[in-house]
Amino acid sequence: DNYYIAIDGGGTKTDAVIFSTGGQLINRVIGAGTNPNGMDFNQVTEHFRKLFSELMSVKKPVSIAGCYAGLSGSDHPALTRKLANAIKDACPVKISHLQVGNDAMNALWSGTDGRPGLVVIAGTGSIAFGILDNGKYFRMGGWGYLFGDEGSGYAIGRETVRRVLMVYDGRERETTLISALTRYFHVQSINDIVPIVYQSSKDVIAGLVPIVASEAEQGDCLAEHILFEAAQDLISLIQNGMSKFESVPETVLVGGVWNSRIIREKVCSGISAPFIFPDYPPVYGSIAKCVNEWEYQNEGLLDSLKK
Ligand code: BGC
Repeated sequence: DNYYIAIDGGGTKTDAVIFSTGGQLINRVIGAGTNPNGMDFNQVTEHFRKLFSELMSVKKPVSIAGCYAGLSGSDHPALTRKLANAIKDACPVKISHLQVGNDAMNALWSGTDGRPGLVVIAGTGSIAFGILDNGKYFRMGGWGYLFGDEGSGYAIGRETVRRVLMVYDGRERETTLISALTRYFHVQSINDIVPIVYQSSKDVIAGLVPIVASEAEQGDCLAEHILFEAAQDLISLIQNGMSKFESVPETVLVGGVWNSRIIREKVCSGISAPFIFPDYPPVYGSIAKCVNEWEYQNEGLLDSLKK
């Protein structure tokens, strides 16, 4: 048997699967985030090293025939090369074929099996990406937490911190987000979060999304307002992406922000399109890419892995 590794890397977590051409899914591991924007490259390599070692703890093949890694933060050829090197350094066995792409490609595949269409990720970061009917592809947004990522988990978290500090100043109306955030950060007073948030990694800030969603569900106006603004940003990303197609494309929505009912309903009622929330996690798109690139003659492989 040949062995393959499929990876979906994000800002908060990295999902990896090792499988064989016999159709066996050997192991799946969810490790730390590997987006290099705002993280030291040595740390990215370290996270990959840990991921590979856990992945191969069940079975360590002599070599890996192919690895497809869809990684958030691989937004420029120079970064893609550096990420590929980090993977090669971190993997304890030789990888014969390695392909690194942006995580939006495999996210789209997880919903469309490679058919043309649009994907909008709203996870820790955000991006729109599409495969057009002529096979060409394009990306929009996704320029990282400092300079882009509208509607993302990080953007929602940052806006939430910004707004509760305005409440502390007396510049905003009272909100239940104050007590929710003091609990989340284990502090006494809301201004005690300041030294914490400046030292926090992006996943901690993006981790505020379920809290904002729950406060909004319980009727907090500010929380609802923050979600509406994010929904508006996502609507405009989707509409801009759609404008590249001749007819309305299948639109795949991937990432934790879509778990918020308020955001989902606002976006899906604001745009009419065949939306897809994939049955399989984005790492299945990376498996599909492996099969498609290197085992395309093995037609039953993907089906058997889906079971
Ligand atoms: C990254 C993109 C990525 C997007 C969605 C952004 O922060 O810069 O590369 O596609 O998040 O994960």
